[in-house]
Amino acid sequence: MPKTIIISNRLPVKINKSNNEYQLSPSEGGLATGLGSIYKEGDNVWIGWPGFEVEDEKDQHTINKKLHELSLLPVYLTQQEISEYYEGFSNEVLWPVFHYYASSYASYSQSNWDFYKLVNEKFRDAVLKVAEPGDTIWIHDYQLLLLPALLRNALPDVSIGFFLHIPFPSHEMFRLIPWRSELLEGMLGADLIGFHTFDDVRHFLSAVTRVLPVTSSANIISSNDRSIVVESFPMGIDEHKYATLPKQKDVIDQIKQIKESFKHTRLVLSIDRLDYSKGILQRLEAFELLLKLHPEYINKIALYMIVVPSRDNVPQYQHLHDEIDKKVGSINAIYRTMDWTPVHYYYRSFPIETLSALYYSADVCLVTPMRDGMNLVSKEYVASRINNDGVLILSEMAGASKELIDAIIVNPNNIGEICRAIIQALNMPLAEQQSRMQQMRQLVSKFNITHWVKIFMERLKEVKTLQRSMQTRHVSGSTGQSIINRYAKTKKRLIFLDYDGTLVAFKANVADASPDTELYSLLDQLAEDPANQVVLISGRKHENLSNWFDDRNIYLIAEHGAWHKQQNTRWHKIQGLSDHWKLDIYPIMETYVDRTPGSFIEEKTYSLAWHYRKAQKGLGELRANELMNNLKYQANDKGLQLLPGDKVLEIKNMEINKGKAALTLTANGDYDFIMAFGDDYTDEDLFKALPDSAITIKVGSNISAAKFYLRNPAEVRRFLFDLTESTVLHDKSI
Ligand code: UDP
Repeated sequence: MPKTIIISNRLPVKINKSNNEYQLSPSEGGLATGLGSIYKEGDNVWIGWPGFEVEDEKDQHTINKKLHELSLLPVYLTQQEISEYYEGFSNEVLWPVFHYYASSYASYSQSNWDFYKLVNEKFRDAVLKVAEPGDTIWIHDYQLLLLPALLRNALPDVSIGFFLHIPFPSHEMFRLIPWRSELLEGMLGADLIGFHTFDDVRHFLSAVTRVLPVTSSANIISSNDRSIVVESFPMGIDEHKYATLPKQKDVIDQIKQIKESFKHTRLVLSIDRLDYSKGILQRLEAFELLLKLHPEYINKIALYMIVVPSRDNVPQYQHLHDEIDKKVGSINAIYRTMDWTPVHYYYRSFPIETLSALYYSADVCLVTPMRDGMNLVSKEYVASRINNDGVLILSEMAGASKELIDAIIVNPNNIGEICRAIIQALNMPLAEQQSRMQQMRQLVSKFNITHWVKIFMERLKEVKTLQRSMQTRHVSGSTGQSIINRYAKTKKRLIFLDYDGTLVAFKANVADASPDTELYSLLDQLAEDPANQVVLISGRKHENLSNWFDDRNIYLIAEHGAWHKQQNTRWHKIQGLSDHWKLDIYPIMETYVDRTPGSFIEEKTYSLAWHYRKAQKGLGELRANELMNNLKYQANDKGLQLLPGDKVLEIKNMEINKGKAALTLTANGDYDFIMAFGDDYTDEDLFKALPDSAITIKVGSNISAAKFYLRNPAEVRRFLFDLTESTVLHDKSI
């Protein structure tokens, strides 16, 4: 029975040692709860670091046994590994760069990177002890970016999901990391890569396609034969828990106490881990500004601020801690009165019951991180508001702001805006509070942690199915052999070959794409067989095809079907078409050439093509989209068709297409074998027009009407060569 393995840096457990005895208490965090339904079942397991160094083997043995009872499997790390892989690389490179603090906090050390690799390998070895082909593996977070590929190489037949719990930065940030390619290659070992928000997905796709030689179509990346799906899965919380806690006796008691203490003051709540990404100092400044500009709130409002200690052995965090202490001290010193304190500051963590009582009691929850992958505090506040009142102020830089759109959304750098938002929140009519909170509660309730786990796992299964169907469509192995067998048996064959992108790879310079000797000899071999009619069907100009193929035994179709020519005859042009439309369209295209360095127009008999393969990456695509919108309506009116291709946008008479051109040939002969190869939009007409029995092969793994696919021109050539060989062998065997 295949199993599921969860892997994260930390195991969801706290281990304490007292009186030489180890005590284990399972974590109650949302993620652990959500994944509980998975890792506790059957042979499933969660692999991770237990959270501290255990040197003694006997101790390890004792801990192993206790962890085993909880379906947990430890990876023990030495102090040096923890300090270099975790504190050094994970928290001093990945954390700051991914949170846009590269310039102030990132420090790149080769030794830290070496340990990052080494520990990822250590995790791989631990997984390989239990994993088997067919298993499903779900890897979590930035400490294990290399693990997906390490596992993929060792065990190709497993399903691997990866989820990043922190933001993925824009390519401009990510590219700063010296080991950027290795990190991306590591992630691409997964079949499904998940992020919290669509922005993270966008950033990742852009980084991957710029840094690595891979292609992407929408959210699917093709890398070495595999389709990798990238998607957003905004993480939820254990909503039920937060919605029921306020009804629990001990929580009700605490709520009463809080209400009593803050009888005369409105309560603004703020809860974070100590981190520079959380915007804690700016939040304090906004609160101070409020007291300064609006003294009427003195005595009437209190900021209840919890900062949970974190990484406080790191100097930058100690510094931040000191700064917060100072700021709180200064605000309280300036504004405190005999019976009122503006900031109630706690530098420690609290049990969930206390947090629940605070969430339930606070009039306003102020969540203003500079960057946050998701931010769960905002969702926990919403889930705790079982009376639908209260106001959430939320930073637009938190992933949660993409879902909780009914919060008051602020820019965390804009102190004035935060200050105004607090005033707006304190004065918000109850009806408005309720209508906003109701919407947010519904969302938090539906997209809870169980839902998140369920949709991620379902999608991972779907991705595997998609990959399998791609595999059977790929012309190789038994699929390739059965086509070859059919070819060898047939007597009258029609073979359509597109040129650019199919027989030769794309070149930045159109002139560089002329046929090489290998291609000529391959085409000659194909054409030599009297059973074959080889047709070169291209969008290129007829003069161009003439130059290259005139003296060959090949039927030529040029300009998408506007011209055709049998061997040893003249070119024939399709009749009854007009090219008057060019007078209007040409000047429009010219303005795009003027605005886009590197782009140019190619004029053909019944089409105009705007090429941008030499334009700046990204700019060309942007302008092509613009041009497309610009020409859309005119094209309709004038009976023209727009063809977006690989780094080209072409506009042509509707009447001309490769499908129609091909049909005039198929209609004129009783072919028992029809095959077509093509790579772009214009070839889809060809695939669709051919009879059902035809073998249609798309070059590239994008969605297509073709039945099969090959990856690139090199594979096309190899396959064509195999076809010609098959008849030689067939003849010999007869
Ligand atoms: N939290 C906690 N103890 C506390 C205060 C907060 O366990 O004293 C929890 C809080 O309930 C939330 C988590 O810490 O679930 C913080 O998650 P968030 O996504 O807001 O920030 P992160 O720390 O993951 O960056």
